[in-house]
Amino acid sequence: MGIFSKIKQAWFDTIIWEMIDDEFYDTLEESLILADLGATAAADAVKKLRDVVYDRSIQNGEQVKQALRDILEEKLNVGDTALDLSTKPSVALIIGVNGVGKTTSIGKLGYRLRKKEKKRVLFCAADTFRAAAADQLEIWAERAGVEIVRSKEGADPGAVLFDSLAAAKARGVDAVLVDTAGRLHNKANLMAELAKLRKIIDRETPDAAKETLLVLDATTGQNGLQQAKVFKEVAGLTGIILTKLDGTAKGGICVAIAQELGVPVKYVGLGEGIDDLAPFDAKEYLKNFI
Ligand code: GDP
Repeated sequence: MGIFSKIKQAWFDTIIWEMIDDEFYDTLEESLILADLGATAAADAVKKLRDVVYDRSIQNGEQVKQALRDILEEKLNVGDTALDLSTKPSVALIIGVNGVGKTTSIGKLGYRLRKKEKKRVLFCAADTFRAAAADQLEIWAERAGVEIVRSKEGADPGAVLFDSLAAAKARGVDAVLVDTAGRLHNKANLMAELAKLRKIIDRETPDAAKETLLVLDATTGQNGLQQAKVFKEVAGLTGIILTKLDGTAKGGICVAIAQELGVPVKYVGLGEGIDDLAPFDAKEYLKNFI
């Protein structure tokens, strides 16, 4: 079993896959909603499944499961799940509200890029609102064996970013991961802050491959999805890092994100350890549940 087996929540406890009648479809839809797929994606998946079962005269439970896997896999297929870090340096802005696992995810991702992809990585501590944020990122930088550029609490995030990009260019760094403040409550504020950071990236590294990754806590379910909609509108996301799937989260939120946002989940967090981050693979992921 792969790393996704750390997810302990089941989607279907009470379903008998061989009894394909109206009650089966109702129970299935209910289970999918409870698994956090959201009402729209659940209804749509069940409707598609009805059609496939009818068209192919499916009567076998295994075939029903396979058909459902295929339908959900197609739903999850909304874009490239790999990060584009093709230039030297490339720059990934990591955004999200406090507590979702942003710092932890940056730490794990930095470690993974260094260890598995042999990249030289630099963390940029552009969350200067809290001193603790940079301190925590520094701890992760040490753990992950990557470099960090930080400043004092209250420093201008743009200045820290500028210094980070200059250091990255001078040292031949492959990927700069930028930690941003998670305490920007209103849209205008967030938009202005990100616009400022982007302007610096465009000016200092005009040809860099760029990612804007939203970190989302899977245990917040549909609320998290609302949060993601605002971030998408304001920040234009290239991907999602979905955290805390090892806990009480049901995990169907991945499908809801794909359906509602059209943004691919690129990585998932499955624990607090440095190795507990995995690239998202729809097929492997779905095998866990269906
Ligand atoms: P930030 O405020 O967004 O930077 O969040 P942190 O990175 O400080 O994480 C908040 C808490 O969530 C910490 O206790 C982390 O250890 C925990 N955490 C982060 N990612 C995961 C995960 O994938 N699984 C679990 N179980 N806990 C996580």
